[in-house]
Amino acid sequence: MKPHEQSVSCPGAIQHAAGRVGDPARGWPCWWYFRIDGITPGETITLRLRGSTATLEKQKPLWDFWAMPTQATFSIDGKTWQHTKIGRREKEWMVYKLKLDATSAFVAWGPPYTPKTAAKFVREMSEKSPHATAAELCHSREDRPVPMLHVREGERTSKQRFGVWVQARQHAWESGSSWVAQGFGEWLISEDNDAAWLRQHAEIFLVPVMDVDNTARGDGGKNAIPQDHNRDWSKKPHWNEIVAVQRMIGGLIDEGRMDVFLDLHNPGPRDPVFFYVLPTEILKEPAITLRDRFIDLAYARIRKIKPPIPMSNKPRVTGPAYHPLWKQISSNWVSMNGNPHTVSLCLEASWNHKNSTITGYRAVGANLAATVREYLGERPEKQ
Ligand SMILES: [Zn+2]
Repeated sequence: MKPHEQSVSCPGAIQHAAGRVGDPARGWPCWWYFRIDGITPGETITLRLRGSTATLEKQKPLWDFWAMPTQATFSIDGKTWQHTKIGRREKEWMVYKLKLDATSAFVAWGPPYTPKTAAKFVREMSEKSPHATAAELCHSREDRPVPMLHVREGERTSKQRFGVWVQARQHAWESGSSWVAQGFGEWLISEDNDAAWLRQHAEIFLVPVMDVDNTARGDGGKNAIPQDHNRDWSKKPHWNEIVAVQRMIGGLIDEGRMDVFLDLHNPGPRDPVFFYVLPTEILKEPAITLRDRFIDLAYARIRKIKPPIPMSNKPRVTGPAYHPLWKQISSNWVSMNGNPHTVSLCLEASWNHKNSTITGYRAVGANLAATVREYLGERPEKQ
């Protein structure tokens, strides 16, 4: 290796940098994040990235595009993240060049968001706002706390409030979705009049990282054994987080106030789909009209703000033809087990676009929260 040239292969270099590789039994090995030391300030370094060859028995390696954003993300201080220049594909390699005025830097697939980030976020929100509480959803199978933000303002009783549930990161590699969740929470405790209305008329639960164990370890989560978090919404879930959310959402359903459920994800590298929904024929009115109204409101707002695009206003259907475990997908489970008026959606924020940055993701989250306020303002108030 030439001086100042980092040859980065996934998993090789990650194994070297972080002491381990993504374990395919714990989900797609596509996420990467490491620190480079010994840089001479001002010199250009070259990162060469290759897809992981780790597989489970009888499986092919993961399509390497999942691990290869057009622009990687880097940081000098571990707090401010920016895109590299556009990388160049050279056969099986993706090559990124970086010129840094520092002796060390962090480089990652996208802006990282760990369980510690989530804990810090919910704590800071609760310190800033008397209406926000830092809570815990549960502890994971590996005994990590799962941070949750709980927001409500004023004297309305629980039953007089709309129920809103927002969660991200059922797939651990999709770090952008946690930033969308954070943007949602930041808007929610802001001084905006619409945010105040939402706090006063609703009770909002927000979980920035659902799969804390795989996120903490840097594993992908998606298609983990025995099934990933978003295929685990059965009568007997494997993962503690799903047991806990089903119990809490069950309470909202029993009280007739499971109004809006949003499950946040990042999609395929070039997938413009924005919302995933159940086939309309499986739903009954008024759920269909309400869902379509929510999608229209969300699309109208978010397409204006240069979000991570491309995005389409045509939802993709996640019925029987989509996946054999389609009934165990969270937004489908909530749709099928919810109230007649429940709006339950999976939102996919594009991760492979120039706006797929912390700022871009947070803007999507803020506009999604404003959408919830606008949508609930059209609904009859809870008595
Ligand atoms: Zn996902």
